Amino acid sequence: MRFIFYGSKHSLEYRACVKQCEKTGCVGDRCFQHCRFSSDGDGVSVDGPWSMQEPLYLQWKQWDCQSECRYHCMLEREEERKTLGDGPIKYHGKWPFRRVFGIQEPVSVALSALNLAMQFHGWLSFFILLYYKLPLRPNRKTYYEFTSLWHIYGLLSMNSWFWSAVFHSRDVDLTEKLDYSSAVALLGYSLILAILRSFNVRDEATKVMVSAPLIAFVTTHILYLNFYKLDYGLNMKVCVVMGVVQLLLWAIWAGVTHHPSRWKLWVVVIGGGLAMLLEIYDFPPYWGFVDAHALWHATTIPLTYIWWSFIKDDAEFGTSNLIKKVK
Ligand SMILES: [Zn+2]
Repeated sequence: MRFIFYGSKHSLEYRACVKQCEKTGCVGDRCFQHCRFSSDGDGVSVDGPWSMQEPLYLQWKQWDCQSECRYHCMLEREEERKTLGDGPIKYHGKWPFRRVFGIQEPVSVALSALNLAMQFHGWLSFFILLYYKLPLRPNRKTYYEFTSLWHIYGLLSMNSWFWSAVFHSRDVDLTEKLDYSSAVALLGYSLILAILRSFNVRDEATKVMVSAPLIAFVTTHILYLNFYKLDYGLNMKVCVVMGVVQLLLWAIWAGVTHHPSRWKLWVVVIGGGLAMLLEIYDFPPYWGFVDAHALWHATTIPLTYIWWSFIKDDAEFGTSNLIKKVK
């Protein structure tokens, strides 16, 4: 997900080029096979092969055509700008990237995949620690009271990095909505987790009472983005508020608690805050590949490692405290 406003800065020439290309299927003397569908009527030709009559297949072709047109019109415009001595501008809220094997932002895709792997590693080692290394209650449940909450957190973050990788490889309406929705879900859920953990809410009924209104809000927001309007400005505000509140909660808690691993919290809070600056001080991609957003995805990799290491310490700490109490 990107925390930036989508300005329609791209020029009239660019828009005219895309419009022309979607009609003719060509930019200059480059033509795209995906743009060859019958443009009259509802777009379904009766005598075409069976696959041509599938609405889904046609939809894909339309997406491919639009994205080819936008990409090549962008390259053409950027070439013109270069000869005029102008710097790069954004197209549809994104810097002009060079594709590799049809992948739009290969660096962001690779970094998203690495983040996904780091989340999986962290979650797996958390699982092994709790169920194989630490003692279990007589009913085979863990002593640590936040186990299932962190399991859900692991699943939501792996889901969100998966859709981030998909979105950065091909930016179409569907992949964009899936990426935004899963990122908002993760952010909202981590806010709930921050509240429950920092206030040490262990009672099940209180956990439900705290999370229900937040779940309702986040669900409404996701439905609004998907089925009413994908409002980037509004979404950015919602995400910044949810992000800042949870960073503050963790920071305040790290300041008052005697938790043995509170320094890891500090590293994640400060590192996460600094990483957010990369999203604000946006710069165009170097060599058409590495932009501020890709770097932002890079910083979350070490932060994820420290974060899961904190979660594991917390599980160990919580377990040993409870066992002491039982004895
Ligand atoms: Zn991203």
